[in-house]
Amino acid sequence: MERLDVIIVGGGLAGLSCAYGLKDSGLSVLVLERGEFPGTKNMTGGRLYLNPVYPYMDGMFDDSVLERKIVRERWTLLAKNSSLTFDFTSEKLRYENHSYTVLRGRLDKHIAEKLLAQGVLVVPKYRVDGLIMTDGKVDGVTVGDERLYANVVVIAEGALSILTRRLGLKEELKANDYAVGIKEVIGLSANTINERFNVGEREGVAHLFIGDVTEGIFGGGFLYTNIDTVSLGIVVKISSVINAYPKIKTYELLERFKERFEIKTLIREGETLEYSAHLIPEAGFRGCAKLYGNGVLIVGDAAGLALNMGFTVRGMDFAIVSGILAAETIKEAYDKGDFSESVLKGYADKLKESFVLKDLNTFRHMPDFLDNDDIFAHYPEKFPAILEKLTYFGCGPKGKTWDILWPFIKEMVSLRTIKVLLSAKKI
Ligand SMILES: Cc1cc2nc3c(=O)[nH]c(=O)nc-3n(C[C@H](O)[C@H](O)[C@H](O)COP(=O)(O)OP(=O)(O)OC[C@H]3O[C@@H](n4cnc5c(N)ncnc54)[C@H](O)[C@@H]3O)c2cc1C
Repeated sequence: MERLDVIIVGGGLAGLSCAYGLKDSGLSVLVLERGEFPGTKNMTGGRLYLNPVYPYMDGMFDDSVLERKIVRERWTLLAKNSSLTFDFTSEKLRYENHSYTVLRGRLDKHIAEKLLAQGVLVVPKYRVDGLIMTDGKVDGVTVGDERLYANVVVIAEGALSILTRRLGLKEELKANDYAVGIKEVIGLSANTINERFNVGEREGVAHLFIGDVTEGIFGGGFLYTNIDTVSLGIVVKISSVINAYPKIKTYELLERFKERFEIKTLIREGETLEYSAHLIPEAGFRGCAKLYGNGVLIVGDAAGLALNMGFTVRGMDFAIVSGILAAETIKEAYDKGDFSESVLKGYADKLKESFVLKDLNTFRHMPDFLDNDDIFAHYPEKFPAILEKLTYFGCGPKGKTWDILWPFIKEMVSLRTIKVLLSAKKI
């Protein structure tokens, strides 16, 4: 059977970016995607940060396939019976193309169509079952009874990372290292979104929630505005769900979230158009795979390149840049005619020099910092409660402001808070 130059397993952002980086190389490249078309199996919150990826993009897509430019950031501490929201905007957010909301069904499909137009084979409905090994080198892939050979295989299979783990390049899945996300895409007219979220044409909001949205366990809720839909969802750490008492059903959390006053008013009369669930690698730097082997490179979520920073989640920018840097390394390997790990290691060196591994390294203590019930249960109850006491007027005389604030201040300036602040020093 004829040998290909490169086979890419998975047509998500990481795999497609790698193919895009190779499109003018003259190499034969085949992208195999198990979904109906690239994008159908892929899920994100989501917001894509553009500044980090601009230097690598080379026209892969423009803002016409993106949804809305984020011009407002909102964070809500959701207590059981109240909430406190911070709403931030700035000229930088409004005038720069800093970040956009995306729908993967649209974005991934667009990149795949661009690749097909330039002669790169992107084949949907093709699930890779295994890897062919010859003399300790990854030599191709199997799809059912079919055997496809290539000099380099790029594994871009996403968070489950089945092939990557089978190769021994990544540790087994641990409940503490993964979160699960559930999301609905809810249809609303563009005008309704503009009015309800107080934004202009193609301008949008990124809104994150912690606290009662996950009943105080590790995780949070999100709402992103798209052109004529909103993406509404929750993310919970798997180990926290397993250990929760009383038991938590993840899909019920989303239903409850939708019934909250803070959300209900925003999505009223909206129609649910999509429902999806997906894993997110949350171990950060500690959870990254070995990124290369003989004849193989690992990119995107498959390599664990994702980062929960508490106030935002990143993974798409890492996926894109890891794909492009893998492509650059493959071109170098072809120039040298050597696909062994000593040459493919260049990919890991490039990632180390880029923002991807630098940011993952800088925020390597983030998973431990966030693994603290106080952040998701204690503070989201306390802060809205003090606001309620300050703003509520009963039938009797109002007490002194200081008498309301003092017990709260005493509680906040406690060993508990000092511990949280000390662990924050590492992030
Ligand atoms: C709920 C949620 C919210 C998120 N929010 C954000 C956000 O706001 N911003 C952000 O930057 N990131 C966010 N992320 C992370 C981001 O979505 C991922 O990091 C990114 O999608 C990773 O891209 P990828 O190409 O590596 O993997 P994927 O997008 O998962 O693509 C993998 C592809 O491989 C295919 N595949 C898998 N196995 C095989 C096989 N054996 N054969 C053939 N094809 C296969 C799959 O069908 C899929 O198309 C979020 C993730 C989730 C789940």
